[in-house]
Amino acid sequence: MERNEQIQDVIIIGGGPAGSTAATYLARMGYQVTLLEKDKFPRDHVGESLLPFCYELFEELDVLEDMKKRFARKPGVRFVGRDGGAQGTWCFGRVIKSPSALSFHVFRADFDDMLLRNSAKNGATVLEEMKVRKVTFDTPEANVSVEATDANGEAHTFNGRYLIDASGRDTFLARQNKWKRSIEDLDRVAFSTHWVDVELDDSLKDGLLQIVYLGTEKKGWGWVNPIRHDRLSIGIVLNNDYVKAQRKLLTENGESDWKAALYKKELFASEYLQSLLAKAKTAMPIIVNGNYSYYSEKKYGDNFVMIGDAASFLDPIFASGVYLAMNSARLIAKSVDHMFRGYEGEDKLTIEGAYETINGAYGLMDKFIRLFYDPETIDFAQLGHAFQTFDSKLEFAYALSYYLVAGDFFHNHDEYHQLLDKLRDPQVVAAYKRIYMDNPVFEEEVISCGVDRNVIFAASLSEETTT
Ligand SMILES: Cc1cc2nc3c(=O)[nH]c(=O)nc-3n(C[C@H](O)[C@H](O)[C@H](O)COP(=O)(O)OP(=O)(O)OC[C@H]3O[C@@H](n4cnc5c(N)ncnc54)[C@H](O)[C@@H]3O)c2cc1C
Repeated sequence: MERNEQIQDVIIIGGGPAGSTAATYLARMGYQVTLLEKDKFPRDHVGESLLPFCYELFEELDVLEDMKKRFARKPGVRFVGRDGGAQGTWCFGRVIKSPSALSFHVFRADFDDMLLRNSAKNGATVLEEMKVRKVTFDTPEANVSVEATDANGEAHTFNGRYLIDASGRDTFLARQNKWKRSIEDLDRVAFSTHWVDVELDDSLKDGLLQIVYLGTEKKGWGWVNPIRHDRLSIGIVLNNDYVKAQRKLLTENGESDWKAALYKKELFASEYLQSLLAKAKTAMPIIVNGNYSYYSEKKYGDNFVMIGDAASFLDPIFASGVYLAMNSARLIAKSVDHMFRGYEGEDKLTIEGAYETINGAYGLMDKFIRLFYDPETIDFAQLGHAFQTFDSKLEFAYALSYYLVAGDFFHNHDEYHQLLDKLRDPQVVAAYKRIYMDNPVFEEEVISCGVDRNVIFAASLSEETTT
């Protein structure tokens, strides 16, 4: 067993966006930070569509210029009804008047690798292929003692003053301590892969993330994400009860790969996806992500805190996970710094205080997600259209909704809760539906956010011309 004698200020489990962001901020503040990551980066990951509110973090972390060189741009989101008819296009630039309105679609392998290398560049010790096996608090040596094994199976011990668990959906501490709880009614399974040779429609060429309804009985939806000019990431999210029933049915019918069969069956049930994928082929195996929507009953204690998916995971319908993880990491890094400095000064931020804000963000998202799935409220594929038609009367609600879809989860919670309550108020819904019937969406109408397609795909197009 190798014992790392020096006591670290902070030990971080996991090098995804949460862990690497926390590591960079803390290392910049001058702390001794060791980050332990079980995989060798770059490694694949789901979660490729990013929100405009991430932009400021990219600037602060000093990776923005690198992002622009590597990844496709995302000017907005288009919600599409199952039959391709009803649709609502949300261009962030309609309300956000700064460069952040043009967000990003990323290959997570490259994105996570870029953030992890940046942590090391900023002074954190990054150890890959170092899997954490056990955490013990209050040992004779230190507040926190972490046992891990490297790629050769050799054991290592790391001692530290404080632990940040950013182990993602592995939920290291929550599992070790049996704190993990599932979130009611949001039990879903996602199936996804990348596709090439796709017939891109105009909105995909315009860089829009597409969110496609799959019908309420499945409580399902799909994402279509143009991560390059010639490649789409397409995922299907389904209610777990529905998946279990389909698994039984498909297996009984002799289907050897029920996951692939179900994924394709659901994709091709949507007319919109059917026409997109007529000549396309998959570029990698199908990835399955179950165990949806959970939280850890305890998220921090005397010598530890959890951030990102290690603390809580919500249905990714609004592409919120990376921003929630990175901004939580920023807040927690600040509060860890204040804690080490004895909470001196006026602007002290305790871990508890940071967590009030973080819990507020997750609570708001939970409500927003449930609104999306509620068949009794306004359909998101129609809501954008409603705002386009009635924006003079609904200016405030219009702007608030856009900010929420863009990622404004950490502020003004009361106002957002009021907005979401309004959107599910039966009187408002009834009035809206009456008006909508008189002003139906034009079936073929595709709204562009007006960003030059050469700008949207500048990264992959320039790669193509240089190779
Ligand atoms: C189907 C699906 C679609 C999604 N779509 C989006 C989207 O479009 N946009 C978006 O913003 N978010 C999306 N998300 C959410 C997003 O992927 C996550 O919220 C985000 O990756 C969280 O970052 P993290 O750093 O907390 O965890 P992760 O990115 O998972 O990183 C955790 C890291 O910890 C490491 N680790 C785990 N256990 C150990 C251990 N014992 N020892 C050492 N290292 C360990 C892992 O190897 C991993 O690298 C999606 C999620 C799913 C499931």
